[in-house]
Amino acid sequence: MSDWRENIRHVKPYTPGEQPTGESIVKLNTNENPYPPAPEVEEALREAAQESGLLRKYPDPEAGELVRALAAFYGLSPDQVFVGVGSDDVLALSFLTFFHSFKPLLFPDITYSFYEVWARLFHIPFVKIPLDADFRLRKEDYFQENGGIIFPNPNAPTGIEESLADIEEILRRNPGSVVIVDEAYVDFGAKSAVELTRRYDNLLVVQTFSKSRSMAGVRIGFALGQPELIRALNDVKYSFNSYTMSRLAIKAGAAALKNRAYFEQTTGKIAADREKAKDRLRQLGFQCTDSRTNFLFVTHPAWEAAKLYEDLKRENIYVRYFRQPRIDNYLRITIGTGEEMEKLYRFLAAYKG
Ligand SMILES: *Cc1c(COP(=O)(O)O)cnc(C)c1O
Repeated sequence: MSDWRENIRHVKPYTPGEQPTGESIVKLNTNENPYPPAPEVEEALREAAQESGLLRKYPDPEAGELVRALAAFYGLSPDQVFVGVGSDDVLALSFLTFFHSFKPLLFPDITYSFYEVWARLFHIPFVKIPLDADFRLRKEDYFQENGGIIFPNPNAPTGIEESLADIEEILRRNPGSVVIVDEAYVDFGAKSAVELTRRYDNLLVVQTFSKSRSMAGVRIGFALGQPELIRALNDVKYSFNSYTMSRLAIKAGAAALKNRAYFEQTTGKIAADREKAKDRLRQLGFQCTDSRTNFLFVTHPAWEAAKLYEDLKRENIYVRYFRQPRIDNYLRITIGTGEEMEKLYRFLAAYKG
């Protein structure tokens, strides 16, 4: 007798950060933006609530309004833009679309841990390439046979940015592979590879509204690349789920893009606060990577990260700890409001280990 259990696809899922609820919690563990979305978003949602059919009718399967707004924002044409339910959705579909190969997908050993989960889910062979001792990516390691390449820039959870010159060389050396640059944190002061999509037909740049646009709860991510890549992504999307973006998400996303000044002001403030946080934590004895994101990646020579993580949590200060080779004595700390950061510094200044 066969057993239905034999037909179950067993996977080891990604572990998202904790989402504690309650008053007086300092939540610095999932890289959310501490500021609200642009005021235009609330306005758009209020207007949308008045529309007849908002909930009853299917949304536009092409999410045209949002795709056109993104194209205009980045100076591209709509056929160079793909949108999805957060960049996790866009990345998962991209794995399914572009890494259909017997050759291994390459990504860093220390990186966004969802990559390995998707590779296993879709039976994509992969090789994890060790970052160097300073957590830098060595471009030469990616000059080898592969079925695709993916890395975040800046990298997560290290926060380290690699140069566009290095990325361009990886693209040039891999004309036969799709190279995905996951730019979840690029808006906090790093250089985007978007311009390179004009010259490289094998580059897909993925970004998200979750961090720099304060809209993690709405779930909007997008990919930018040449029309051939975008068409392939759409073909897979329409083979899976046509109506991924809700009417509300489409409206909210398009509205957020209207206010460039607010976007630059809030991301600029977070980048400045990040530099202050580096100074404060270094004064407290921490070593920090040169993060270009909305989080810091820190280690302390005298304090064990796993214990500090627990001790912080007892005080309702949540940060992220990864029990993983090479980084198991590090903490990832999201840049919060000034008040939240002060609470963290106060705790650390009095901490005895
Ligand atoms: C946060 C994050 C994502 C996913 O964000 P979404 O909320 O799904 O858009 C993707 N990649 C990296 C590196 C991230 O940190």
